[in-house]
Amino acid sequence: EVVVVGSCMTDLVSLTTRLPKAGETIHGHKFFIGFGGKGANQCIQAARLGAKTLMICKVGKDSFGNDYIENFKRNGISTGQNVIVIVAGANLLLDSEDLKRAANAICKAKVIICQLEITPAISLEALKMAYSNGVKTLFNPAPAHAELDPQFYTHSDIFCCNESEAEILTGIPVGSPEDAGKVGLVLLERGCKLVIVTLGAEGCVMISVDEPIPKHVPAGKVRAVDTTGAGDSFVGALAFFMACYPNLSMEEVIRKSNFIASVSVQASGTQSSYPYRKDLPQDLF
Ligand code: ADP
Repeated sequence: EVVVVGSCMTDLVSLTTRLPKAGETIHGHKFFIGFGGKGANQCIQAARLGAKTLMICKVGKDSFGNDYIENFKRNGISTGQNVIVIVAGANLLLDSEDLKRAANAICKAKVIICQLEITPAISLEALKMAYSNGVKTLFNPAPAHAELDPQFYTHSDIFCCNESEAEILTGIPVGSPEDAGKVGLVLLERGCKLVIVTLGAEGCVMISVDEPIPKHVPAGKVRAVDTTGAGDSFVGALAFFMACYPNLSMEEVIRKSNFIASVSVQASGTQSSYPYRKDLPQDLF
């Protein structure tokens, strides 16, 4: 039901009291390997909430790539046939041929999610393929590019960015729901149908062509431990609720997604902090 075309990254993380200076070696007091990459994170969150998910991505033919595929399997995500190459920047090798091979799944999805951690032209191609087949398109312009192809705006049913991405795209610094509303209006003028600007602890602001008045949807107050990957948890949750509960209003979808993402900030790590359906209040579903 949810198809993600995007990136996988293996995070090698060391905790230190400060950054080393050029040429210096320092001791870290912790080291761990984490699964990351925006596309994969979003897919994992949607899967843990109970969506049927398919990840279209490229990984290297090495132990990191193999471990990543195992990570997807553990989370119940189909990966289809793997097309494997031997370079670190495998994400950038996802190409039109790969999309053609996955066209059937893309065109039959309920929701597709795309970001910019793969070649932008491929992300756009996937978005357009889905859009022209009536699949709901959810675009997350991350990491942000100032010169975004305008077709990303016109082919996104939902355009979801955070404060810094909003500023890079529009030049409007975002520090409040009011600023986010201004960004939303600019992005509607560029052809978006519905814009969501996430605001960390403040939740987010939504605005749509049907209701071009910015609406602030606050997040609950929680004790945040680690906000890394909160945006991806939010986007994954959006896709899950849109795909599995098509009758919910967008405001309700956003309210629930705020809740899921606010759970993710209360544990450390990225994917390791994403909640499973069984651990959440059942009235969310
Ligand atoms: P990103 O991770 O892309 O910077 P944000 O920081 O805007 O994204 O966070 C995305 C979403 O995660 C927010 O819209 C909100 O729902 C939730 N969130 C993030 N930080 C907090 C927090 N401190 N308290 C509650 N919810 C949070």
